[in-house]
Amino acid sequence: MMFRLALLAALFAILAPRSEAAPTNFVLIFCDDLGYGDLGCYGSPTIRTPQIDRMAAEGMRFTDFYSAAEVCSPSRAALLTGRYPIRSGMVPGPMGKRVLFSQSKGGLPASELTLASALKAKGYATAHVGKWHLGTREGHRPSDHGFDHSFGLPYSNDMDGRPDLPKGSASSPTPPADGWNVPLIRDGEIVEQPADQTTLTKRYTEEAVAFIQAKEKGPFFLYLAHTFPHVPMFASPAFKGKSRAGIFGDAVEEIDWSTGRILEALRQSGLAENTLVMFTSDNGPWLTQGAQGGSAGPFHEGKGSTWEGGMRVPGIAWMPGRLSPRVCQDPVGALDVFPTFLAMAGVSTPGRITIDGTDLSPVLFEGKSLPDRPFFYYRGSELYACRIGEWKAHFQTRSAYGPDKGETHEPPLLFHLGQDLRESRNLAAQQPEVLAKIAAAVQSHQSGVVPGLPQFD
Ligand code: MG
Repeated sequence: MMFRLALLAALFAILAPRSEAAPTNFVLIFCDDLGYGDLGCYGSPTIRTPQIDRMAAEGMRFTDFYSAAEVCSPSRAALLTGRYPIRSGMVPGPMGKRVLFSQSKGGLPASELTLASALKAKGYATAHVGKWHLGTREGHRPSDHGFDHSFGLPYSNDMDGRPDLPKGSASSPTPPADGWNVPLIRDGEIVEQPADQTTLTKRYTEEAVAFIQAKEKGPFFLYLAHTFPHVPMFASPAFKGKSRAGIFGDAVEEIDWSTGRILEALRQSGLAENTLVMFTSDNGPWLTQGAQGGSAGPFHEGKGSTWEGGMRVPGIAWMPGRLSPRVCQDPVGALDVFPTFLAMAGVSTPGRITIDGTDLSPVLFEGKSLPDRPFFYYRGSELYACRIGEWKAHFQTRSAYGPDKGETHEPPLLFHLGQDLRESRNLAAQQPEVLAKIAAAVQSHQSGVVPGLPQFD
């Protein structure tokens, strides 16, 4: 009798459904030059983003989400490694180039551990769709950094300009590449050059949805890095001329459609409850582009600057059923994505690697706040500002672009971000102890930074 009972128990153990949950899938949607004020749920009165607004309402919308750099390439390097770009060398060298260009030999060093490599080692299927901008040479490509599949542009859509290609003018319509000869690449092979930019968002979306559907059994990591709303601006015929905000608004509204398609694909595949989707931007709006430059909402300055408008960007997390909907005011950012995804996937990082971000799981899933921690605003390899809690100190300030050489502040400028969104009332004289605390955090951080070999020149 005992034997038969034991046999039955053993059989039951084999046949019963496994109790441990399936590994979490990850989708990371990364826009290019989307400003804080360019989405409905962040206050845009003109650009309609019902899909992203719904994502935010069902998930967590961060009011204080930061990109890890003020421009493209370093921001992407930090997103995929959880490390300030100075550590990987994704910063300017003596020539001062602020990002990688089409002829650049450098890129994200092969020695850096990326999200894709770390998750792939854990059995994840990995795909990159969209803009790369972390290097085109051997050792720097998506396939060198853990991506099984890659489809998109190797760098920004305004690189590879060719004067002989047709361009739009006041009297003629804009052709699909508008004088830019940027290639569209699939798994290392050029499949179209110049890329027809009018349908990029649509094709990226189809690619992303197909990957999700093919990897239904999971686990997977999808990195969808949109080309837009980076200048030159394009939208497909279904969106062109439809928004109140011109072609910039059209491009953002198409990204909104795209986001809705991806969340719908997750719902239809029954994966929504088991997939964490993060939506954010690589830097603030490119204000020098005028009407095609987007909006930093209530903040001062934009892309290229360490004022809030340059680095505070939309940030939304979505995982229905797991994540309780709320607006979160804690300062968090792109640096936290790497440790958060790895912690959720049960991947431990090698101890020799310094990770600058923090696992956000307690914020996302337990309604907790993280203890105050410093955030450092770098412009290239130089630390310009630091925030702790509500306080932000600027050690240097400089215009986003142009010949201005900048200004060093001694004592630093000090602003209370809770009460002064535009960073206009300097409280340094009244708050010496706050300044001392921030200075100590900066000194401690800088004493631990080993700069990588600069890659951009
Ligand atoms: Mg950008």
